[in-house]
Parts: sequence; C-alpha cells; structure tokens
Amino acid sequence: MIDIPDPIVLQIDKTVLVNNWRWLAQQSAGASCGAAVKANAYGLGAQDAVRHLSEAGCRDFFVATWAEARSLAECTEGLTLSVFHGVSSMDMAAAVQLHAKPVLNSLEQIALWKQGGHGKPCDVMVDTGMNRLGVSWDQVLEGALDDLAIHTLCSHLASADEDVPQTQTQLERFRLCKNRVSAHRYSLANSAGICLGADYAFDLTRPGLALYGGIPRAEAVGHIKQVAFPKARVLQVRTVKSGEAVGYNATWQAQGDRTVAIAQLGYADGYLRCHSDLGSALWNGHIVPSIGRVSMDLTAFDVTDAPPIHEEDWLAIEYDLPKTAALTGRSQYELLTSFGARYKRSWF
Ligand SMILES: *Cc1c(COP(=O)(O)O)cnc(C)c1O
Repeated sequence: MIDIPDPIVLQIDKTVLVNNWRWLAQQSAGASCGAAVKANAYGLGAQDAVRHLSEAGCRDFFVATWAEARSLAECTEGLTLSVFHGVSSMDMAAAVQLHAKPVLNSLEQIALWKQGGHGKPCDVMVDTGMNRLGVSWDQVLEGALDDLAIHTLCSHLASADEDVPQTQTQLERFRLCKNRVSAHRYSLANSAGICLGADYAFDLTRPGLALYGGIPRAEAVGHIKQVAFPKARVLQVRTVKSGEAVGYNATWQAQGDRTVAIAQLGYADGYLRCHSDLGSALWNGHIVPSIGRVSMDLTAFDVTDAPPIHEEDWLAIEYDLPKTAALTGRSQYELLTSFGARYKRSWF
C-alpha cells in the first residue's frame, strides 16, 4: 500500500487517561471504578482505551450497542462488558454468543432474556427519575424484578453535573430499590456522580466523560486533565489585503493586511461551524484565532502576530474541553464525540 501521511492527527495521552481513571477510582470510595467506552470511547478509540485502562486495573466496561460489544470482544476477554441498550429480539443471537451482558431496560427486555438468554448473566437498569431507559423504580418496588438473577443493578443520574434536588431524589429511590432487589452489585454514579462523594458510589462507578478529559463538576478541576490533542497541517499561507474577506459568505474582513494560514481541518472532521471566529490554535507558543466560516475540510487562522509559519507546519488546535464548550455552546460530550474519521488517532 502507498504510504500517505495524515494531514490531521489526534494525539491521545494514555498516561493522562490512566491518571484520570485513577483519580475517579480513588473518589469512588472503595467501589470498583469501571469505564464507559461507548461511541468508540467518546471518539478516542475504544480498543486502545480498553487496553490501557485494563492494564491499569479497570475491570468493568460499558458500551451502548452489540456492535460495539463485538468490536471489543477480544480485548475484553476476562473482563466484564455490559451493553447499555439491553436486548431486542434482533440482538438476541449476538447477546447469547458474545461474552458481554445486556443491561435490561424494560419488562419486555426482561421477558425476552428469560425466554432466550439461556441463563446468561444480565444487569438491569432502574429508572429513578430520568425517564429515559430502565424499569421504573415504583415497579421495581412492587416486585417487577423478583424472580430474575441480576449481576449489577444500575440506575443513571440525570442532572449530577448541577446542584439540583433531583439528584438526591434519585439516590433515595435507588436506595429503596437496593433494599428490595438482591443483586451482586449496585451501580449509580457516572463521572459527575462520582464527584458527589461516597454516598453515590455503591459497588461500581461508571465514568465516561471525565476519563477522556471532560470536567463534569468543579470538584474535578485540577485533577482531571486533557487527554486528546488535535493537530492539523497547514496547506497554504497567504496574505489577505486590508478590506478583503476570508471564507464562505465573507463573514470575516481583514482590518489591515493580514497573514492567514489555511489548516486541513473542517466540519467534516468534527470541527463544527460553532468554531467559526471562536476557535484558536497554538503556533510556537502563540495563540492564533480562527477566522471566518469553518469549511468542510479547511479552517483559516490569522497568524499575522505569530512567528513565521509555512506550508506543512502543524497547528495545535485548542481543544480544552470546558473552555471550548463554554465558547462554542457545545457540550464537552459533543466536542469529544465529534472527532471524525479522518484523524489519525495517535496514542503516546
Ligand atoms: C454514558 C453513560 C455513563 C457515563 O456517563 P458520563 O457522564 O460520561 O460519565 C454512565 N452510565 C450510563 C447509563 C451511560 O449511558
């Protein structure tokens, strides 16, 4: 095959990933700390994430779908892998064959599993107030799970990243369910839930966002560090004369002659148009702002005030998650899961 150098690279720091997990494990107050690696580990690469985290001692992994479970079958041998979406009749063949277990979400899913699951282990999601997935907590208290062998009984917090009464209500409802239902383990907290302290940890925590550098709550500031660093190569450097415009729809005009670098990164790579005029990059220690509309494959940066830059130089794209989220109005989750297929994911 012809070797073609990649024009955009996502550098991913495995030491930081592992350190983030260690901090979350420590905050989990004696509970096991797992890892949500759904959506390709939030865009960073699930197989590599599982490999590095399992080497560090992580034993419990979570994906959303059976296709994701299949892609991790080899690297999760000897570990537990749970599938958040549970089973439908279409998934039963995969669910029975793969070593992953479903997180059953409804009475219908439970009936399917009892019928066709061959006694394989399962987890169950209880809905304690998010009204998304799960058997509702009042049905659980009425005995809906009574004759089911459950590995891990889970619930999921809707608003743990804010300080609102809903979270405490969910905790109380989950405790009632725990008293009613016998399971090997109980699990409630996502990244934000872990920050709320020992009451939320139970036996197993399920962080995702914070593993990958997202800051779910103020408690994590200074402990959770950036994991993923996008870089893009400069394709062209040009002078834009005073009064000339840059990019689609001429949304940016040069005030005085400017030097502009065009980088090989665009919204098709997940560098969405919300970055237009708001993004920035680092060149030789200088911050250079993005200017004009982000195109599908290209973004312009004003490098006038930075040291000279040339075609083929690399720009380090600013992607501090909380900062970029505040600037663009995108959530940290969206920013992470937007990293596109053209990036070469390069772990170091
Ligand atoms: C995605 C997900 C998690 C991880 O949540 P973060 O907020 O990313 O830490 C945990 N539990 C469930 C059910 C999820 O869907």
